[in-house]
Amino acid sequence: MNELLETDRNHVWHPFSALQQTADLPLITKGSGPYLYTAQGNRIIDAISSWWVNLHGHAHPDIANAIATQAQQLEHVIFAGFTHEPAIRLTENLLTILPENYQRVFFSDNGSTAVEVALKMAIQYWSNRGVKKQKIIALHGAYHGDTFGAMAVGERGLFTRPFFPYLFDVVFVDFPSDEGRVLAQMETELRSGEVAAFIFEPLVQAAAGMRMYSPSVLDKMVALAHSADALCIADEVFTGFGRTGTYFAVDQLTNKPDIIALSKGITGGFLPLGVTACHEEVADAFSSNEVSKTFFHGHSYTANPLACAAANASFNLLAGDECQSRIRMISSMHSEFAESILHHSSVAEIRTQGTLLAIELRTQEETSYTNRLREIIYPWFMKRGVLMRPLGNVIYLVPPYCTGKDDLQYIYDSIREFLYALEDNTLEANL
Ligand code: PMP
Repeated sequence: MNELLETDRNHVWHPFSALQQTADLPLITKGSGPYLYTAQGNRIIDAISSWWVNLHGHAHPDIANAIATQAQQLEHVIFAGFTHEPAIRLTENLLTILPENYQRVFFSDNGSTAVEVALKMAIQYWSNRGVKKQKIIALHGAYHGDTFGAMAVGERGLFTRPFFPYLFDVVFVDFPSDEGRVLAQMETELRSGEVAAFIFEPLVQAAAGMRMYSPSVLDKMVALAHSADALCIADEVFTGFGRTGTYFAVDQLTNKPDIIALSKGITGGFLPLGVTACHEEVADAFSSNEVSKTFFHGHSYTANPLACAAANASFNLLAGDECQSRIRMISSMHSEFAESILHHSSVAEIRTQGTLLAIELRTQEETSYTNRLREIIYPWFMKRGVLMRPLGNVIYLVPPYCTGKDDLQYIYDSIREFLYALEDNTLEANL
């Protein structure tokens, strides 16, 4: 084990992490349900579904078996000029749960690429129709991924600073907490008639600190964009597949966006896969004999059959009664717990939405990803066997749907203990 960790320390570059590790990382050897097991013999409850992907927990046998069966049949085939059953079945499955305006499905292989595809689709839609619309509207605080297009439509800040000169211009409107203000901004920006697309994370800005806003204001923003003939893109990479209590956050809207980007939970956390689905009318702009109107976008692993097989197995679990009732159970336990900690002086705000719970802690510093509380929160919960990766001073839970009542209760108790320690100034003593 020490040898492995030494190689890791010296040669492996971990994402969103300092290059120099101050301590050895936990070496994970096994996952099962909501638990991760370390080589050092510890069990950790994965309260964030490992970066929000493991819908059904770890190593679910149905998904593992689906992949194994598929691997012995067809592991991969080029998706240009060929097709296969796992991708077709997945398309059918997605169309049964997506709002009915989505009729075409384009595959890629992660959340950032699903967003890139959505942006390129929207931009080329106007170009193919010979209409000059080149502006994109996005929301302040947005995070859409780490590739260049996705960075361009995200908040300009810590994550993207070195790349500012290379990011294309985007019009940012405020986070929709003040309805009147954001609608006025939208109207001003849309007046030019040059807006090609409006992109947003519906209902929850995840990486910004699980900031939540109402479906009613988003509905009005989408309606405004549509009235100015701009396409709307919902980035449901995070919110999709039951996270907000409904299959998709856009289920809570009357006005449906034209394009939707999906990834993360789609395979239940087993394999990378991205999907961008759109309206038939969007796809129609590409339906032409002119080669220049083709959508020239594709990744080597587009619609990988193993990933599609995993997604189909995950879909069957998600659509089952047991999973749906667990989603309801987690949602109602979150709400009850949120009520019970409202009185804490260290709590600035509590936000819940379906299976998501976020607690913004009151601190001297401003709320941000680099808030120093993060340095304490993470080890504090790890010591208690809970993987909780805060966003600065925002603690949040995105549990796998298989998480049981006892484990949820244990996590809530740990949070309560944490809040008391924070208020008594005894956090460091209890680390
Ligand atoms: N969009 C949203 C809303 C996300 O939260 C993320 C990832 N956290 C992405 C896109 C990018 O997904 P990926 O990390 O799979 O590229």
